[in-house]
Amino acid sequence: MADPIIIVGTGQAGAALSAKLRVLGYSDPLVMIGEEPVLPYQRPPLSKKYASGELQFERLLIRPPGWYAEQQVEVRLGASVASLDPMDRTVKLDDGSVLRYAKLALTTGSRPRLLPAELSGNLGGVFTTRTVADVDAIAPLLVPGKRLLVIGGGYIGLEAAAVAATRGLKVTIVELADRILQRVAASATADYFRALHRRHGVTILESAALDRLVGDNGQVAGAALKDGRTLEADLAIVGIGIIPNDELARRAGLVVDDGIIVDGLCRTSAPEIYAAGDCARFPWRGVSTRLESVQNAIDQAEHVAAAMLGAQSDYDPVPWFWSDQYEVKLQIAGLNRGYTDCILRTGKREGSASIWYYRGDALIAVDAMNDALSYGIAKKLLEAGRTVPKAAVADPGTETRALLSA
Ligand SMILES: Cc1cc2nc3c(=O)[nH]c(=O)nc-3n(C[C@H](O)[C@H](O)[C@H](O)COP(=O)(O)OP(=O)(O)OC[C@H]3O[C@@H](n4cnc5c(N)ncnc54)[C@H](O)[C@@H]3O)c2cc1C
Repeated sequence: MADPIIIVGTGQAGAALSAKLRVLGYSDPLVMIGEEPVLPYQRPPLSKKYASGELQFERLLIRPPGWYAEQQVEVRLGASVASLDPMDRTVKLDDGSVLRYAKLALTTGSRPRLLPAELSGNLGGVFTTRTVADVDAIAPLLVPGKRLLVIGGGYIGLEAAAVAATRGLKVTIVELADRILQRVAASATADYFRALHRRHGVTILESAALDRLVGDNGQVAGAALKDGRTLEADLAIVGIGIIPNDELARRAGLVVDDGIIVDGLCRTSAPEIYAAGDCARFPWRGVSTRLESVQNAIDQAEHVAAAMLGAQSDYDPVPWFWSDQYEVKLQIAGLNRGYTDCILRTGKREGSASIWYYRGDALIAVDAMNDALSYGIAKKLLEAGRTVPKAAVADPGTETRALLSA
């Protein structure tokens, strides 16, 4: 029998890759190895409808359980790849077994950045939200009246805050930077979400440096800030970014630099080894890029499938992303990296708005809050490689639909 294609990591990218290989007609053995004990599932609802109890786990599954046997995809769950040998084309699992591969895909994702031990004090009641197990541990603690401290005002922290505030907790967000969403969005977007959270009773402390979490009997009881303020808390959620899981590749001698380096075909520096998703860093429009999104995990994994079977085109995505907080859906088209200016448009519906990012005269991204029309138009423009004059966007008299032909 032919050696299999092995996929390390049973997350969003691993699931998309196995499905695409079968769709493209690959019929040789296919093995997925994942260290989580459950079938591939979607992570975005973890900080949204799963955390709030509106969705059951079964609804998060990317494919129904029977799909894998039907498609002859062997899935090894609760199994971790400990090492790989690119010369022998083998992987070694944590139980000591060794498997040969014809081609290998690394879709190992990422993990939450943790607070350093001197800040966290290794206290109980301090959580991250990467896996379903993480959120299962938090959910019973989301009880009205409890005090939640959220460390980090990025999308993950803001979503956790929204779920908790909606459930009646008293929520405080502590952000080290001078504003929330500093790494990912313009100040106009941050202003919008700050106001939204404050309307829901959330306290947001910006330019607030955590000195340390404070404990009581080994459990978190609050925090001390560097400016001398103290906060009380019954639990804490840390959302201070993620780290790509690239150590397996690094140990095997592959080129790694904050992610596994791949070329346009998503090939790593070792023969027959590809990478996709949060763990992969690829060339995009001349800049080394690593994306942390469902769009990228799926599109890049599908690109890997095609490349493994001989396709020759470079991966060139139009990124998109979303976030749900309270009654607001944020949709982002494009990537605002390196923007030089941005324009705020207020929508007709109350609470709807969009932020249009430009690099020079080129439209590069749009954040649309409860404004699906602006998102759709921006996505079409970006997919077509077009821009729209700033004056037209800035003019409140321009109908949003007209921006497509402005
Ligand atoms: C709470 C939360 C909310 C999010 N919300 C959004 C959103 O609204 N929109 C959006 O676009 N994106 C969102 N994301 C990001 C999105 O979910 C990720 O970008 C996506 O899951 C990346 O897919 P992946 O396959 O690269 O990694 P993952 O889905 O993380 O899967 C990687 C898998 O590999 C396993 N693995 C790692 N190393 C090994 C090993 N050595 N052996 C075996 N298995 C291994 C891991 O355990 C994991 O199961 C969110 C993420 C989280 C955590």
